[in-house]
Amino acid sequence: MSLQSEQIIEKLKERIQSIELPDLSEEHGVVSTVGDGIAFVRGLRDVVSGELLKFDGDTYGLALNLEENQVGVALLGSDMNIRENDIVRRTSHVVQVGVGDALLGRVVDALGRPIDGKGDIKPDAMLNLERMAPGVMTRESVHESLFTGMKIVDAMIPIGKGQRELIIGDRQTGKTSMILSTILSQKGQNVKCVYVAIGQKASTVARVVKKLQDHGALDYTVIVSSAADESAPLQYISPYTGCAIAEYWMDKGEDVLVIYDDLSKHAVSYRTISLLLRRPSGREAYPGDVFYLHSRLLERSAKLNKQYGGGSMTALPIIETQAGDISAYIPTNVISITDGQLFLNLDAFNAGRRPAVDSGLSVSRVGSAAQTKAMKHVSSSLKLELASYYELLSFAQFSSDLDPETKRIIDHGERLVELLKQEDSSPLSHEMIVLSLFLNKYGYLDELEVKDVLPFEALMHKRMSTVYKEIVDTIAETHELSDETIESLKTIMPQLIQEYRDMNYGS
Ligand code: ATP
Ligand code: MG
Repeated sequence: MSLQSEQIIEKLKERIQSIELPDLSEEHGVVSTVGDGIAFVRGLRDVVSGELLKFDGDTYGLALNLEENQVGVALLGSDMNIRENDIVRRTSHVVQVGVGDALLGRVVDALGRPIDGKGDIKPDAMLNLERMAPGVMTRESVHESLFTGMKIVDAMIPIGKGQRELIIGDRQTGKTSMILSTILSQKGQNVKCVYVAIGQKASTVARVVKKLQDHGALDYTVIVSSAADESAPLQYISPYTGCAIAEYWMDKGEDVLVIYDDLSKHAVSYRTISLLLRRPSGREAYPGDVFYLHSRLLERSAKLNKQYGGGSMTALPIIETQAGDISAYIPTNVISITDGQLFLNLDAFNAGRRPAVDSGLSVSRVGSAAQTKAMKHVSSSLKLELASYYELLSFAQFSSDLDPETKRIIDHGERLVELLKQEDSSPLSHEMIVLSLFLNKYGYLDELEVKDVLPFEALMHKRMSTVYKEIVDTIAETHELSDETIESLKTIMPQLIQEYRDMNYGS
């Protein structure tokens, strides 16, 4: 009996001696704890911050915390198959994503892998997710327009190529619709689009894809999706993935529009990772470097100068506010990083003033340099007109007896607000927006009843794009309203108003 147990002991000793322990010092490490998408790994002495690490069973991780005795790793995938004491290997490179024209029309995950079932993607190159933003000497000031197709935005808060314009508002205020309209209006404009969905419901992403497909806009768009059910690390890297994809085209001298929908959820995913990595938390439990999280992303948008190819990356980040509070931590951070914001007002949205852009709180700090002469001509007084209308409106509620001047401003304001309304996913061309605002500038709007403003506008657009096409073409080519064009429009508009009246009210 005792002989047998001695034999067993001998056998076990042999076994233990024959085990080859990996060299834990440099290239390998072992998992000490794992859970909630985070692993702590011992060993890996030479690992660099942001390095991609490979776990057993094809899971990858991102080295984020370099501590004295261990490395904190955010797992880019499920942690179900990772166990304590599993081996972790270095890859000696940071996380990269495949970029190139093959991505157009595709839906990919945060690591650039296709998730639309349309087969593999052959990338032109691999780029690091994180990269230094273009330096001052490589940049040029914003001077070309990027049309959003929305009257209220293109007229009052114009966006230029290379600009970063924040879209901010409560939930369900038309934020996503606004960027969809912007993507749709890039059709035929040689602007590639990258839509990054961060922490969105998969059904919302599917809706976006369908809408783009239905309007023929998917061909020039890439969708990077890290849905709400994906792990926090994947949501955390997805905007950088989108940015790297866009950067490739910018470096080739092309124009790109990139949308981050939305950065509030991005900040939350980073907070989750940071807390799990036991980093110290600060205001609203966000880690101290949450500003850098967004600044290093948005700073990569630029308008490059000719010497560097002249490409541009315009960024439209989205932030969701709680009860319209734009002075919360993350909103103020992103407002200070961007070159302006479009504030969407929930009350206006519910009152039917859609798009619900708040003309008082919205601003574009650099875009007006990019606005066309024609647009400037017809929209210069809009902000003031709206401001005086809203001011008088609140005060006129208390009195029924208004003096003629107040009544005139209110009547005009009502018509102007009506004119600035626009349906979901129906972007207008630059020329059509100029023509609509021409009605306001030259007083034709005041000849119409409020309810007739939008139907008349539709008729006018129809006639202008068929009967008077040469005028529209001239505006499109020159981006100017010459005296001659203004004179012709002054004869055409009254005729069209008469035609509208005859059609609707009889002669
Ligand atoms: P969430 O906070 O859920 O992301 P959101 O702010 O992105 O919401 P959207 O999803 O764009 O809002 O829009 C909410 C709803 O309002 C949608 O059903 C959309 O069709 C409608 N909507 C948005 N803009 C307009 C508009 N200009 N005219 C009419 N309906 C609109
Ligand atoms: Mg949305």
